[in-house]
Amino acid sequence: MGSSEDSQPPIYVTRPQLPPLAEFLPMLEEVWNSRHLTNGGPFHVRFEQALCEYLDVPHICLFANATLALVTALQALRITGEVITTPYSFVATSHALLWNGIKPVFVDVDGRTMNLDPERIEAAITPQTTAIMPVHCYGQPCDVAAIERIADTYNLRVIYDAAHAFGVRTPAGSILNHGDLSVISFHATKVFNTFEGGAIVCKDLKTKQRIDHLKNFGFVDEVTVVAPGINGKMSEFNAALGLLQLQHVGSALAARQRIAQRYLAAIAEVEGLSPVLPEAGEGHNNGYFPIRVLPAYPLSRDALYERLGQAGIHTRRYFYPLISSFPMYRGLPSAAPALLPHAELAAQQVLCLPIYPDLSEADQLRVIEVLRQPAGE
Ligand SMILES: *Cc1c(COP(=O)(O)O)cnc(C)c1O
Repeated sequence: MGSSEDSQPPIYVTRPQLPPLAEFLPMLEEVWNSRHLTNGGPFHVRFEQALCEYLDVPHICLFANATLALVTALQALRITGEVITTPYSFVATSHALLWNGIKPVFVDVDGRTMNLDPERIEAAITPQTTAIMPVHCYGQPCDVAAIERIADTYNLRVIYDAAHAFGVRTPAGSILNHGDLSVISFHATKVFNTFEGGAIVCKDLKTKQRIDHLKNFGFVDEVTVVAPGINGKMSEFNAALGLLQLQHVGSALAARQRIAQRYLAAIAEVEGLSPVLPEAGEGHNNGYFPIRVLPAYPLSRDALYERLGQAGIHTRRYFYPLISSFPMYRGLPSAAPALLPHAELAAQQVLCLPIYPDLSEADQLRVIEVLRQPAGE
């Protein structure tokens, strides 16, 4: 651990993608001049339209963030009782259930994809179950066909937490068109950001209108309030930024793919490390580069995390700890670790490496060098 390595600038797991500021300034001027700052202004309308086209989805409702969108998605479909979900996700997935007074029922993930395992869903269904809330983990599509069959058989609704799945397509089209609703996030750390932001994808205008009322306190007109809605609206600032970001997202995704390819080639040579996601390309968006640190590797996952940290490389243990282990969840019968062996193992083994469009090749080589020679030369 020479001092030369300590003096290098830090590398973070992600670095938010921004458009050239000069392109944003005229848009800000437009907002300033119009004084239309929020409440469905012109940029909000344009951004919704542009997203529908880019993502190839019928309707979009913009939100201030994806957590409010998840809370509102559940409220929009009047979900109650119990909802089957994954413990291997960001905590907002389950928190959205608690905010609606719903009991989360954790079901284990598939040990390969880290997505909710459809084979285990049926055993968790009770008379109180009203919906399934899976996550397209790291942007990799869930087994949507199997989940749909179960939902149809038991008359359950499906809300996908698609926070990671911006722009993800399968041969059947956008992954966001599955289930009753899908929620995407535009947080600064995501593949596509508006600083803070999120959206619900829905299939018909009636649902869009209900969601649009719910994100505006439940107002349908100046004097009519139909439900205890929240303030989930996206401002014109964020919408204008999103509209501009959309013009640059293609090159950002391509850059991520090149970086993922370099990691894949390097990691193939290291015994005990294995990539979680399949070959970069169709099917996910390279928003994350998760690897598994297996027993054959000289260091444990946590020791490697520390070792990288000493070299100024800040990785993340997504997802550790499991949602089901946090104090507000761990008392639930479905949160017992013995019932969630694949999620538990993934939480112990997975490490997400730095990936962002302007990660330089030299910086990526610094990361790869530590992975290859964790003990140093
Ligand atoms: C980021 C994230 C969220 C929350 O998104 P925000 O826009 O930050 O509220 C929800 N679920 C998952 C899986 C996420 O990764």
